Amino acid sequence: MAKENSILLHGLALKDATLKVGEDGTPVRAMLYMRVVDRAKSDENGNEEMQYTTVFVYSGAPKVIAKMSEIVEGDLVDIYGTLTTAKVPKKRVCPVCGSVNTAVGDVTYVSPLYVCRREHGLSPDEINAKLIERAEISNRVYAIGNICAGLDYNDKNGTGNPNLRYQMAIPRTIRVHDDTANVETDYPWVLATGYQALEGKDALRIGSTVYLKGHLRSKEQVKEIQCSKCESVFTSQDFPLMRISPHFTEYLHNCNFPDSK
Ligand SMILES: [Zn+2]
Repeated sequence: MAKENSILLHGLALKDATLKVGEDGTPVRAMLYMRVVDRAKSDENGNEEMQYTTVFVYSGAPKVIAKMSEIVEGDLVDIYGTLTTAKVPKKRVCPVCGSVNTAVGDVTYVSPLYVCRREHGLSPDEINAKLIERAEISNRVYAIGNICAGLDYNDKNGTGNPNLRYQMAIPRTIRVHDDTANVETDYPWVLATGYQALEGKDALRIGSTVYLKGHLRSKEQVKEIQCSKCESVFTSQDFPLMRISPHFTEYLHNCNFPDSK
């Protein structure tokens, strides 16, 4: 079966890239938050609505870390990579008693194969103009996978803006250089909206194979934690929830159509 899991990003570094160093002082991980943009829609007068999304980029590959380490807040950056999921231990310090609460949670990130700092030192107006000019390559996702969970449809009380959430299993096409190096499948979530949700709710089932073209969307996540020691409840900022929002779905196998269309 054809395999696909490609992400193309061009965006603004919201902060300097963060490096984590190993015991010998060499960087072993790099992290970056970027703002990317796509043209969500345009009205009958041709006015476009830009959709801005914050994406989380993470790598353990030495060549990629070296490139990411040059990136500072305000840079415009090109990235080509793959969408990756992992289960990671998350440590949270209780603000009441100070004990560390550790729990395993999910994280979704972009693993770059290619990183290039394209511009540095532009003004905010110049940055925004460049982002809009480059919206067609700023936030693109291409993925083929099998639906493995979810398919929760929400018609939003008939507002005409329904959504459909599901999880996909995407076989890896490349080796990812981090703690997930031996993992063979990624499990990102998909948030289909509008027509993609309406069509998908009838066409899709667990086990369906689809090819998606779309954008990444992210949502801030604040988790409520109960301390395992003193039982106080506190909130903690989590990694953003990054999901694929398709603007095109090709129904490949096991879909509820007489023929694939
Ligand atoms: Zn506590």
